[in-house]
Amino acid sequence: MVHRGQILSFVSDPGDGADAASYQHFPEGAMLVEDGRIAALGPAAAILPKLPRDIPVTDHGRNLLLPGFIDNHIHYAQSDVIGAGGRQLLDWLNDYTFVEERRFGDPEHAREVADFFFDELARNGTTSALVFCTVHPESVDAFFGAAARRRLRMIAGKVLMDRNAPKDLCDSPAAADTESRALLERWGGQDRLHYAITPRFAPTSSPAQLQVAARLAQDFPEAFIHSHLAENHAEILWVKELFPAARSYLDVYDGYGLLRERAIYAHCIYLDEADRRRMAASGAAAAFCPTSNLYLGSGLFDLAVSDAAGLPFSVATDVGGGSSFNMLRTLDEARKVARLQGEDLSPLRAFYLATLGAARCLRLDGQIGTLEPHSEADFIVLDLEATPLIARRTAAAQSLSDTLRILMTLGDDRAIKATYILGRQVHGVPAAAGMSRSA
Ligand SMILES: [Zn+2]
Repeated sequence: MVHRGQILSFVSDPGDGADAASYQHFPEGAMLVEDGRIAALGPAAAILPKLPRDIPVTDHGRNLLLPGFIDNHIHYAQSDVIGAGGRQLLDWLNDYTFVEERRFGDPEHAREVADFFFDELARNGTTSALVFCTVHPESVDAFFGAAARRRLRMIAGKVLMDRNAPKDLCDSPAAADTESRALLERWGGQDRLHYAITPRFAPTSSPAQLQVAARLAQDFPEAFIHSHLAENHAEILWVKELFPAARSYLDVYDGYGLLRERAIYAHCIYLDEADRRRMAASGAAAAFCPTSNLYLGSGLFDLAVSDAAGLPFSVATDVGGGSSFNMLRTLDEARKVARLQGEDLSPLRAFYLATLGAARCLRLDGQIGTLEPHSEADFIVLDLEATPLIARRTAAAQSLSDTLRILMTLGDDRAIKATYILGRQVHGVPAAAGMSRSA
């Protein structure tokens, strides 16, 4: 199948957007998909004449084809918590989140929510995600089972939590070890699935359980590590009380060997220079969650100091603390967080952070986050006429940056015209395929 349209794929971080070598943009592009992978990409005039005359072609007009969005921090079990209360982190966890997460010991409930969650990701153009399940192994089986049926590239894990939470939501160091090992063996590396060792955050894991996480990380070097870090002032004071010997909140995780490549920490708002440099040197990355940080009033992630320290980050939704599944809404809030600190987030960089930048944080670039030949054909089509206002504003756009800024300012799920997984359309009205190959 060939897809024609306006095509954008990143090569490197575009920064302020001035570096034209950081992306490939084909205003009249063509992309050949074979066996779920991208086989060729370029201007339609160069690609089409080389193909057999009878190859099916889907023409997306002037709509914009992009790699699917990658969400590096989201909780599937909080799909029904979104928009609950507006209080700060620790109350929000106790009053809403823990109440909801109790329900995920029921495999039937977990399956129903997992299916809703994946439908919602597809509707919002998100094709891969790094996901918190709950403490229940059933929640992980339900999640990966549904992801496997849809052949999604997904990363998730069982929450480790053995203290400072309701008793019936706590495991123990021994259960954390046995259950995680069984899940790692069952799901890690199956088709497109990856396992993440997932301590909820330092306050809810005892030192004995963090040691279990450390051993799991040693025994499964290919596993991801996924947790929260430095989100909120009260949380940070609590970590200081619980781990008085640690130099900082980050140092707690570091002391247990939980910093390395493929370790992703959500929030990272209140880090110091030494923390940022240590994280960067370890290969770990941050997930910046602007809608969540604003919704819970947690604080402002500083993009410029993260850049200065060489700390890689991507932009994530953190549903249900976050207020939208939609990456366009999330990028808009990310730009506002930058503006509140006298910084900027260029539209090109914003879209990079939601695609290739996120894949690089996960060390999955080459597979996802790009439309380069050989990568997996997870891609989306953004509708430049999703609303009368978007149509009017994009028609007047003078540049690609203008178009992207308009999409992230005005766009939401209505702008996701289609979502494709391994070349198969999973969302949107099926586009009619013709055989018009005239360039
Ligand atoms: Zn979170």
